[in-house]
Amino acid sequence: MRAMVLDKPAPIENSPLVSKDLKIPEPLEDEVLIKVLVCGVCHTDLHIVEGDIIPPRYPIIPGHQVIGKIEELGKKVEGFKKGDLVGVPWLHYNCGRCKYCKKGLSNLCENIAFTGFHVNGGYAEYMIAKKTAIYKIPETVDIKSFAPILCGGVIGYRALKLTGAEEGQKLGLVGFGSSAHIVLQIALYKKIEVYVFSRSETHRKKALEMGAKWAGKLGDELKEKLDGIIVFAPVGEALVESLKYIDKGGTVVSAGIHMTDIPSFPYSLLYEERSIKSTANSTRDDVEETIKLAIEIPIIPLVTDYPLELANRALDDIKHSKIDGSAVLIIG
Ligand SMILES: [Zn+2]
Ligand SMILES: [Zn+2]
Repeated sequence: MRAMVLDKPAPIENSPLVSKDLKIPEPLEDEVLIKVLVCGVCHTDLHIVEGDIIPPRYPIIPGHQVIGKIEELGKKVEGFKKGDLVGVPWLHYNCGRCKYCKKGLSNLCENIAFTGFHVNGGYAEYMIAKKTAIYKIPETVDIKSFAPILCGGVIGYRALKLTGAEEGQKLGLVGFGSSAHIVLQIALYKKIEVYVFSRSETHRKKALEMGAKWAGKLGDELKEKLDGIIVFAPVGEALVESLKYIDKGGTVVSAGIHMTDIPSFPYSLLYEERSIKSTANSTRDDVEETIKLAIEIPIIPLVTDYPLELANRALDDIKHSKIDGSAVLIIG
């Protein structure tokens, strides 16, 4: 099978992913073999490929927004059959026994494992997934635009919940890439007003077209105070800048897995019960709820597609905000 493999991390400009021909893997009894059709490209993949976050082993095949068909099932896999359309997100495994799992916080599990990080992911023609890591996807959806729901959508949805923003309130989004443009659609559906901060003029224009109440840059004046802000930009300064826009009691949530250091700031920015919080991974419930919402709304991600061999280019385009919405690899 063809796969884009990371032997060692490097700046994306050096094309660290290498096209290789590998043996098709075989599933264990609690796993399935999936023929990958599409795989969304996530900002986290960029962090892995560039070495901002280090997987437990190399080589590794990234990719954790996979949609494909079940090709082969292990003996202990129930409720699925050959040919079923399934999605595979970031959460590959949680133990169900640790104190976090017992509290329903499987996203913080002590023994957690991730797709395309601990185990090979979907930048390949075939991949293995645990039976607990797959989700049925209706045959009626457009799989190319549905793939980014599986991480961009799920993480954005979890971050939105962590802001506590409710109907009639005001939500800020800092950065307007894959995840943010999906959250905008969820927030509008929940009748939350959306304010978008982006350095990219095309992203600001796109945000307004999609229904944002306001679009500007961090540092611009905004009369309204916001009840919640999600920071997608992996930049510590953006977190501090965001605090200047948040109302008393409001929460600034960072959605990323990696962020540059946060500069010091005066306590007055945080005082009056403002808070800063990070988002880490997602639970099975988050994935199921997001898939359900995505079908119900329906969420329509903007997608730019690339063939598998151009995975480096897709990541480079994300790094330099060259595309609107999400990048997706077309594989099968
Ligand atoms: Zn656990
Ligand atoms: Zn992701």
